[in-house]
Amino acid sequence: MSACMFKTEVKQLLDLMIHSLYSNKDIFLRELAANAADAIDKARFESLTAPDTARVWQIRIDIDKDKKTLTVSDNGVGMDRDEIAENLGTIAKSGTRAFSEAVKSGKDAAGELPELIGQFGVGFYSAFMVADKVEVVSKKQDCDAVRWSSTGEESFDIGAAERSDVGTDVILHLKDDAVEYLDYWRIAEIIRKYSDYIAYPIVMNQQITDKDGKITVEEKTLNTQKAIWLRSPADITEEEHQSFFSHLSGGGKYWKSIQMTAEGTNEFKALLYIPEKMPYNFLMPDFQKKGLQLYVKRVFITDECTKLIPDYLQFVKGVVDSSDLPLNVSREILQDNPLIGRIQKAVTAKVLGELKKLLESERAAYEKFFAEFGKMLKIGLYNDFANMDKIQDLALYESLNSGKPVTLREYVNAMPDGQQDIYFITAENKAKALASPALEVYRGKGYDVLLMTDPIDEWVMQTMMQYDKKKFKSVSKGELELDEASKKEIAETTEKAAKDYAELLKYVQTELGDKVSEVRFSGRLTDSPCCLVATEFGMNAHMEKILKSLDQQVPETKRILELNAKHPLIGIMSEELKTDAQSPALKSDIKTLYDQAVLLEGGELTDLADFTKRLTDLLVRAGSRA
Ligand code: ADP
Repeated sequence: MSACMFKTEVKQLLDLMIHSLYSNKDIFLRELAANAADAIDKARFESLTAPDTARVWQIRIDIDKDKKTLTVSDNGVGMDRDEIAENLGTIAKSGTRAFSEAVKSGKDAAGELPELIGQFGVGFYSAFMVADKVEVVSKKQDCDAVRWSSTGEESFDIGAAERSDVGTDVILHLKDDAVEYLDYWRIAEIIRKYSDYIAYPIVMNQQITDKDGKITVEEKTLNTQKAIWLRSPADITEEEHQSFFSHLSGGGKYWKSIQMTAEGTNEFKALLYIPEKMPYNFLMPDFQKKGLQLYVKRVFITDECTKLIPDYLQFVKGVVDSSDLPLNVSREILQDNPLIGRIQKAVTAKVLGELKKLLESERAAYEKFFAEFGKMLKIGLYNDFANMDKIQDLALYESLNSGKPVTLREYVNAMPDGQQDIYFITAENKAKALASPALEVYRGKGYDVLLMTDPIDEWVMQTMMQYDKKKFKSVSKGELELDEASKKEIAETTEKAAKDYAELLKYVQTELGDKVSEVRFSGRLTDSPCCLVATEFGMNAHMEKILKSLDQQVPETKRILELNAKHPLIGIMSEELKTDAQSPALKSDIKTLYDQAVLLEGGELTDLADFTKRLTDLLVRAGSRA
């Protein structure tokens, strides 16, 4: 026998399991049963191509009241010596750290953490919530049996063991405060609650005392093993859905279930869930199981069939059970089967259709959903051209006038006569969007503007050109385009200003040099003296920031400085210019105006010290004038 040290992170995790998690210890059994079922899934899958390894698949639970042990056994794939050491002790998985952090950050306060253990891929260790020693005896096909044991402290032991058949026993030496799990009824209750859907019988001996006091032992199957997705939707209780969803997602709550039956040339059944919340590990690529579970005629094939659902809908969990796919091929080849592509199409259409219904029937709940998963749907806007129209109808954006999320349909329906385009602004957050001077003319006219504050919006708006035949128009890019009447009026004012202040325009352009590509008068502003806008296809400050944060090369782009002809400052400056073209104060004020425009655009000043000095000088000048 040899002793091995746990990896530091596993050690920390065990410490937390033992000392910090008190709520809902029952889930240890769910985790062990799930591991047993996974092991059988694997063995069963292998047996498709090696029929002589097929056996009667089964999970067993045994209790020994004298020894105070509870044993979960399966006849699944088993592990050899290396695998057992790797899987149960030495690999410092990223999920381990994430889980420890979640515990430390106090997430268990709500008692929800044990429910989420599965999401972190650390389910096995939950055994240490109820056991002070855990032994695992395992045998893999054509290998010697091996025993792993640990008291959950510094190290674990590995040595030889006796086990004639392939499979695994997980033996828990229960703590004194966990002896409740030595009771048949208690175990039966937990299995029914959490593991009823498991496709293999979970059996346990029940002692029955007859009226004469004679004790007999009967083997009982604790779970119904019904493939929940094959049952009629009306017969499935919310609790059953919840426990199946927990199994698929490793915990958490589901918001909606979607059941599907496709008939005809491509027959399949599907049961899908939209989670209530984004799982903790959603963005940890090695931890989140991707895709849907795939069964073929009730035989488990894989729990990560990524091609069954597009990337942007990966938050949807579920099962697809196909009647038409061939059983006897490898998982990889199966993923490329054209039937999978067709299933994906149907599943996508179904999910998008259901979301549309929910948007219409449960607006408040949908808004919560969108706050959680809207970013994912927006990825769809960016890369699923085929479904662009459908996804557009699912998107919500806050708007200037309504102050709450609106759909594009609602926005368009509320457009006043004469408004032709859909106006939007992209910014880092709502406050920054609302501070933009580029909104002034729209505010003045009462036109609504969509406030887009997700980084992904910048990308989406590069590909999303129109909705309902109406163009999207950024309020801070390109020429100002309003209704015909305003256009005419604005053209007249700006042309006149360009003539009246031709000298000033030239002067500002020379002073700012190559900081801007152009200086011009525009009708975009009503209150502010100036603002920066990007060219029609140019990049704004927000996009530049996003790209820089992603370590991308950002090409130097220049923006246009637009001046407000109606602002008194323009007249004042023009007069100052006439009296003294070399006035240091005028030069300084032009720089300051430009800096203000940079700040309001969401950009950063390159020389803050100079900016503050200029402001101070300005205050002094203002003071001496007064
Ligand atoms: P997860 O199951 O999420 O990967 P666990 O901590 O529960 O995380 O288990 C770690 C690994 O140990 C599993 O991925 C599996 O490879 C192995 N394992 C656990 N239980 C069994 C079992 N009963 N039979 C075979 N392998 C198992």
